[in-house]
Amino acid sequence: MQRISWREDKTKVASRGYGGKWQRLRLAFLKKNPLCVYCERQGKVTEAKVVDHIVPHQGDQKLFWDQKNWQALCKSCHSSVKQREETGSLQKGCDVNGIPLDPNHHWNKKV
Ligand SMILES: [Zn+2]
Repeated sequence: MQRISWREDKTKVASRGYGGKWQRLRLAFLKKNPLCVYCERQGKVTEAKVVDHIVPHQGDQKLFWDQKNWQALCKSCHSSVKQREETGSLQKGCDVNGIPLDPNHHWNKKV
């Protein structure tokens, strides 16, 4: 009996095509947006390495490919975004000087 492996081939081609498109668009996006947007907000200049989805796409194709939903991040910001998503909390933490980022924090209020 002959086994036809069309199913296998088809999956391979499909996954290669998808991955290739994402890699291509991702690199083009990083070329246009070479700096980490989070670091930029804090006055730092860091090379972006990761394209992150502002709204988590959770498998939604429209959100996934929508470049308005993309942002360029460096690796450390990207992992802090992911952490924040997991804990579900809003802006937290401190800048390099140990000052809280939250503008409403009492440290940031003028006495
Ligand atoms: Zn960054």
